[in-house]
Amino acid sequence: MRYQSPKGTFDILPEDQAYSRYVKARAQHIATLYGYGEIETPIFEYTPVFARGIGQNTDIVEKEMYTFEDKGGESLTLRPEFTAGVVRAYLEHGMHVRPQPVRLYSLGPAFRHERPQAGRFRQFHQFNVEAIGEQDPAVDLEVMLLTWHLYDDLGFKGLSFQLNSTGCPACRPDYLQNILIPYLRRHVDQLAAEDQRRLERNPLRVLDSKERQSQPVIEGAPRIIDFLCDECRQHFDTLRSYLDLLDRRYVLNHRLVRGLDYYTKTVFEIWAQGIGAQNALGGGGRYDGLAEALGGPHTPGVGVAIGLERIILLLKEQGIAVPPLPGPEVFVAYQGHTGKRAALQLAAELRAADIATVSAVSDRSLKAQMKQADREAVRFALILGDEEVATGKVTVREMATGQQVAIARSNVSNYLRGRLVF
Ligand code: AMP
Repeated sequence: MRYQSPKGTFDILPEDQAYSRYVKARAQHIATLYGYGEIETPIFEYTPVFARGIGQNTDIVEKEMYTFEDKGGESLTLRPEFTAGVVRAYLEHGMHVRPQPVRLYSLGPAFRHERPQAGRFRQFHQFNVEAIGEQDPAVDLEVMLLTWHLYDDLGFKGLSFQLNSTGCPACRPDYLQNILIPYLRRHVDQLAAEDQRRLERNPLRVLDSKERQSQPVIEGAPRIIDFLCDECRQHFDTLRSYLDLLDRRYVLNHRLVRGLDYYTKTVFEIWAQGIGAQNALGGGGRYDGLAEALGGPHTPGVGVAIGLERIILLLKEQGIAVPPLPGPEVFVAYQGHTGKRAALQLAAELRAADIATVSAVSDRSLKAQMKQADREAVRFALILGDEEVATGKVTVREMATGQQVAIARSNVSNYLRGRLVF
């Protein structure tokens, strides 16, 4: 038995919570600002939700899912991402009868069996946003603005979008069969072995390959946006005009793809100063074919997923401070049996008055208890020594100054409430 969390996972200790609490709170605030409601779906789903909803020919489904059979023989999978589960919930709860689009966000862990490295874990956390049921490019814009808003709010500078359109079932197959695949075949000798395999299974994914050897061929590849059908072209041009209208910088990036039939039209990533393609913080796009892939009716949708660990890493790297978490404000120290009973009562009374209080235990010397009060970083220590017990008073010590006053027991919580800012 080793005392070690599983490979690629980590504990978030109380002292490490300030960043994740802050980022989650800002994400929730901004989602609310845009009219998104929180949805919590199970951490596991029936395996086909992800197998169909993410796609068989993806790294996630082929190599990275935590799939297991439960005691009843069902195949279940820990969610490797949120979108498929959220769309499953939209369909299951008949959300198409609500005003469209249905705006939903989630925060929580996701699981992928990846090779752990800096910023890449096997259990990680995402802030996920979906707008389901509408294909107006104004919704794509909204999801992009929300993403930008969060990054800006957190203090990241130099924001810009990477933007692409991957077309739809009306135009993408033509581009693949007649343009991209023939081009890649002509240059197959210059592609890395992994990309030669991708060319056969999922040719669009060759475009976002990180293999060094393939880069010159990929750079020279014909761009899908030059081959969009009228509907996709119009959707893309309108989105771009909205981004101009709102003055959001974007760069066309023809290498940004999702490589699946149900992912349609818009694909985007957000970049900030100090980060680029290798460590994308967040990305999203449109998935007008996903609901059908899950067996539902045609339902357009667009969303974004943002990795919390990568945001936190970048906040730390860029020296962006977050508000400290509130800790206990008062420590109650005592002497003797009667003092202890009084301390237990007083601590209960203070908590009832909404004052965060830690009580000494285990009958150590007053000196040791005061040392503990110091380590707890409280603002006040309350001392119930022999003398205080005899006189019905409490000594209130302000830790920062060392100043002490004697206060009647019955008046302590009033006194502290006056001194502590709520
Ligand atoms: P994806 O669903 O692959 O588009 O990922 C969306 C975001 O989640 C990425 O931009 C990362 O910020 C984050 N992410 C994805 N996989 C991991 C991982 N294994 N560990 C940490 N963060 C991840």
